[in-house]
Amino acid sequence: MKRARRTIAAIAAIAVVLTLSAAFVFVALEADHDCCGHGCTVCSMMAAVKNVIKAAALITLTMLIYETTLRLAERVKDVLICRRNETPVAMKTKLLN
Ligand SMILES: [Zn+2]
Repeated sequence: MKRARRTIAAIAAIAVVLTLSAAFVFVALEADHDCCGHGCTVCSMMAAVKNVIKAAALITLTMLIYETTLRLAERVKDVLICRRNETPVAMKTKLLN
């Protein structure tokens, strides 16, 4: 289960990196194209690429917030559970002094 999840995450990350790399290369190559004005195919492609970059940024931000929230929730849970179990009996501490 965990291995399949990691594989899917790796494939998704590679797809995002390749997509963004292709988008940036396209924008860099076509930044100073000979624009024919209204209805230019290169300009319409650049608009589509801009939407792809915006979507990727939004997805990345959402995933970052989701992952951060999960990790924070796990830490809070760990702290709460540790505080609940930190009794001398639970820690098997001998109080001989
Ligand atoms: Zn153009």
